[in-house]
Amino acid sequence: MGILKCSDTYRSFSGTCTECGHCKGACTSLVAADMTLGDIAKAMLEVERGAESEDDVRLNIAMNPQLVQAVRGCFFCTSCKNTCFAHNDVCDLIYHARVDFQSLGLIEREAWSSVLVDEEWDIFKAYRAIHGIGYVDLTRHIANEHHEASADCDVAFMPGCSLAAYGPELTREIFETIDGMCEKATMLDSCCGSSLKSAGFFDRAENLCQRNIDELVQSGVSQLVCVCPGCANDMAKALSIRGADIEVVSLAAFLSDHGFTAKRQAPEGNLYLSKSCQDRDGTYLRQTCEVLGIDPTTPSIFHGCCGAGGAVSAFQPDRQAQQADSKMSFAPDGSTVITMCPTCTYTYAYRLMSAPRDIQNKHYTELMFESQFDWNLVFYQLGSMWSGEYGAWLASVFA
Ligand code: SF4
Ligand code: SF4
Repeated sequence: MGILKCSDTYRSFSGTCTECGHCKGACTSLVAADMTLGDIAKAMLEVERGAESEDDVRLNIAMNPQLVQAVRGCFFCTSCKNTCFAHNDVCDLIYHARVDFQSLGLIEREAWSSVLVDEEWDIFKAYRAIHGIGYVDLTRHIANEHHEASADCDVAFMPGCSLAAYGPELTREIFETIDGMCEKATMLDSCCGSSLKSAGFFDRAENLCQRNIDELVQSGVSQLVCVCPGCANDMAKALSIRGADIEVVSLAAFLSDHGFTAKRQAPEGNLYLSKSCQDRDGTYLRQTCEVLGIDPTTPSIFHGCCGAGGAVSAFQPDRQAQQADSKMSFAPDGSTVITMCPTCTYTYAYRLMSAPRDIQNKHYTELMFESQFDWNLVFYQLGSMWSGEYGAWLASVFA
């Protein structure tokens, strides 16, 4: 066995790349690195050639800043994949490269210490604990002081980390709506593990999804309702590996199927739908248009990631802002940007706080439900966590 863990992936990717160069033109990070995806696979193999130890490989990678740029600068947006006639899987390649980077100690701890979402504490759990946000009464499949464990639920609601932490009232309102549309709902307030994959802990992310499936199986549900397309994709893949007979549906499709009508009027002005990069074929975009009752030809923002993907902000802090600006630049002043993934909503809110523009930033559920995100409060609470009475504890937990 060689020094790199994922050489087989690089070999097989390299064998299918025709070196046409189309992928490079689709990506600012690949342009900056002056590499195609095939070049990345070859460079990963090259750093091992002639190396006698991990130290040699580590040094070879560190001496190749273009390779580091291409691997650490990836948002996992798949824009490049859409240009590849060989349908080469960029995520498979770069997730594996990150596994090798992680195991060689080439991803600094500050980049991932607060997002180990399979451990007792991560930034979302800490935020929820410090600010008294919990859902034990809604996680009916888990025994606690409120109830015995239920094995007769029919639908599980997975809000995802950002919605569960930063929109507790909205999360509860959605849950109550789902609960009213089925026999008995339960809440799966765990993470899908995407931040683990970005940090190079691929197996841990897959194990976390399988733990989620253990919970779903135990709950008896036949449907999992996801808000975020990324959670839906990861959970659908994990369910298929497990062979579990549980259908993954988007919240938008679930609400449409059950005849839900919005509790609010659509905002004034033009609406611009910001497609999630995890929504590869546009299914979630179509379903979101349908539940909102808007024309699917409504102007949409398709271009790449919001800036939050791939933990790029830990490697190149400015690129998250640039990416968010680039994506929101499609929406003219006076319009409303509507997101499908709550992490995109968070990312735009964060950017608009430091670079205000005359646009509204709304998750699509905010157009239908009474409860809204309060981003001023969220950012205040996120900032004050580190300086208040829990500051020292947080610093030590995430050191
Ligand atoms: S997935 Fe996106 S960020 Fe990553 S290499 Fe492809 S286009 Fe670039
Ligand atoms: S677009 Fe596909 S085939 Fe062409 S260089 Fe990129 S990975 Fe290789």
